[in-house]
Amino acid sequence: MSAPPTARLPRVDQLNPRQQMAIDCARCSRRLGMVGRVWGEARYRGRLFRLWVCVPECPPPVVGGTP
Ligand SMILES: [Zn+2]
Repeated sequence: MSAPPTARLPRVDQLNPRQQMAIDCARCSRRLGMVGRVWGEARYRGRLFRLWVCVPECPPPVVGGTP
């Protein structure tokens, strides 16, 4: 995990408003609640958005639903 945190940020205009406002995780769209970490900052239309993601990592996607 040595890559710079801003290397793979999504485009701000591809996020939904809840992700832009740091309510939901910018990577997996889960509700952050009281915990989260700064993923990086992205500039969009002259504004600086701080993107937040899950702590410590986004949960793995559920494939195939519940067993
Ligand atoms: Zn997440």
